[in-house]
Amino acid sequence: MLNTTIAAVSTPRGKGGIAVIRISGTDAFAVAGAMFKPKSGDSSVTSHPMRKAVFGSILDESGQVCDEGICTLFKGPGSFTGEDMAEISCHGGLSVTEAVYLSAIAHGASAAGPGEFTRRAFINGKLDLTEAEAVGKLIDADTRERMQLAGSALRGSVSGEIASISASLLDTMTALYAAIDYPEEDVGDEGEREIGNTLRTALGRVEKLISTYRTGRAISDGVKCVICGRPNVGKSSVFNLITGEDSAIVTSVAGTTRDILRETVSFGGITLRLSDTAGIHATDDLVEKIGIDRASAEIAKSELVISVFDGGERLRDEDRTLIRLVKSTDVPKIAVINKSDLCIALTEEELELIRESSDSCVTISAQRNGEEDRRALSDAVAVQFGSDKISLSADAVIWDVRQREILSHAKSALRAAVEGLEYGAPIDAVCTCAEEALAALNETDGRNMEMTIVDEIFKRFCVGK
Ligand code: GDP
Repeated sequence: MLNTTIAAVSTPRGKGGIAVIRISGTDAFAVAGAMFKPKSGDSSVTSHPMRKAVFGSILDESGQVCDEGICTLFKGPGSFTGEDMAEISCHGGLSVTEAVYLSAIAHGASAAGPGEFTRRAFINGKLDLTEAEAVGKLIDADTRERMQLAGSALRGSVSGEIASISASLLDTMTALYAAIDYPEEDVGDEGEREIGNTLRTALGRVEKLISTYRTGRAISDGVKCVICGRPNVGKSSVFNLITGEDSAIVTSVAGTTRDILRETVSFGGITLRLSDTAGIHATDDLVEKIGIDRASAEIAKSELVISVFDGGERLRDEDRTLIRLVKSTDVPKIAVINKSDLCIALTEEELELIRESSDSCVTISAQRNGEEDRRALSDAVAVQFGSDKISLSADAVIWDVRQREILSHAKSALRAAVEGLEYGAPIDAVCTCAEEALAALNETDGRNMEMTIVDEIFKRFCVGK
């Protein structure tokens, strides 16, 4: 219900210096006016200018002063939600915050649902769906890359690029419609070439956006990464090198890392969801065996395999088994030849076997735990997921499967239009394809999406967003 006035505590629950209670809707000013009395002696906060912080007393639901704080009013549509809004900052104690929030409810506001402020901003046209989702991502961001990805989308990098492609297509549509309406005025070779160029450029831009999905998703959702190798090759040490702390047990006793440890880290410009496995080797030991089966299962489910080999020893049968297993796995894979501080005992043939099992191979000393070794491995990860080629502050990067589906639809339609033109298809057939591409691109803002789907998206937010 858009005509209700909603309130929520927008700061996290818990003790803090301050807390902010947000109120939005037609009666936002009336609610704020009833529960906030300016110290200046003015009868109401509403007589103060908009967007100016006003100091005053905050009244609880029974009309008693419960705190002192700041109230700021934002007149719709120039507010976050597009409605009249009030933000009341009070001291961040649990009881104080609760009292101020309950006062807003007692004075006529309803409790806001999850993501309701952002949902209203979307419905009132303040944000498109891509930007609204970016708000959620930005708040959830726990790594620098995730923050940059969401921040750039929120500032309109993705929406802006799509709008710009749409605008160029719209121009071409005008030329195409003219050609259909006035067939006697031949578009001519020149005109056709121009239309073809615009369509090809649009196709290239759509393809470029789609190509960012892999990196965007690797940052946003993370990549399930498995570190495998027989016991003692240095898996735990590689794990520690990546996480940058001693989170896995490093030990010289074979197979002690029986359990699969898990950790999420920012590495190589993406997010790795790591598990350190018990290694793959032939053994009759039951506990170890559970570890091996689990390791194979982990490889099958992973999105990046880091296979570790001991450079100080010749290859063993278990290493060769792992090489075969990794080679047949259809995901990005990086081989690590570890213990480079020792004399490399692997033969040239063995090194070649390791190299060709994976997409890239790095030689490091995990135990040394140095910046250079860490960099070598993180660069290899970045190359696999394209984060070395993307500037999160400058490029439009998508991460959402909804965006990718829509863009893929636009891509097929544009390709059909380009090919139609090249193979001399009737101009109205080319036009239909271009129209389909334009309609697909226009879907990315979510304006034509069913409300139930939109509601589902905002339910993933938490209250106060
Ligand atoms: P995992 O069983 O594969 O997890 O191997 P660990 O990380 O527990 O390491 C096994 C042994 O190899 C330990 O004694 C480590 O100190 C040692 N080790 C690990 N990495 C290196 C390295 O780069 N150089 C040397 N010399 N020893 C290493």
